[in-house]
Amino acid sequence: MDAIATYASLMNIFSSSAFGVIATIATIYVGILWVAIILWIARDIVHRTNSLTYQVICILLSFTFLPGLILYLIVRPSSTLADKYDEELERRAFLESISETDDECPTCQNPLRRDFIFCPTCRARLRKVCKCGQIIEPNWQVCPCCGQLTKEVKNEKPENIKRPMKSKIVKKVLAKAAQKTAIQKS
Ligand SMILES: [Zn+2]
Ligand SMILES: [Zn+2]
Repeated sequence: MDAIATYASLMNIFSSSAFGVIATIATIYVGILWVAIILWIARDIVHRTNSLTYQVICILLSFTFLPGLILYLIVRPSSTLADKYDEELERRAFLESISETDDECPTCQNPLRRDFIFCPTCRARLRKVCKCGQIIEPNWQVCPCCGQLTKEVKNEKPENIKRPMKSKIVKKVLAKAAQKTAIQKS
């Protein structure tokens, strides 16, 4: 008798107008959520790919409600088209900044920037660094900052070595060298 009474009271709840209202509200809520998911996926996918097939598949996926949403979040492209465009711009700017210098590696011929000391591609040594921190070009005889002789000059035969340059100002060093040659000529 108890079981029948419980069943009867349950049936009363289901058929009551209050339950009907709650069920309607729940249905409307789920419906709105579903439409929102479809619209969100449709809007999101057009920002992530230009492929029409990909877009259509993802929008169809959205019609399967929550499983579709979860699946979409897994398979969607990780970056938006705007992000990809920005990355491409950055890459081009970097390449242009390199090509502007129009310097290339003597070993592997890859473009280099003028302040590179090693070739980043083939690891060839391109320049030296003075004790004072100044980058020394291969054809320089002295450091333009501290007047230190570069290694090539130091290793030359004694007769080719110029007088030790104690001055720290390159202009003075060059002026002395010029004077010396002028005296030799006269
Ligand atoms: Zn190289
Ligand atoms: Zn130096």
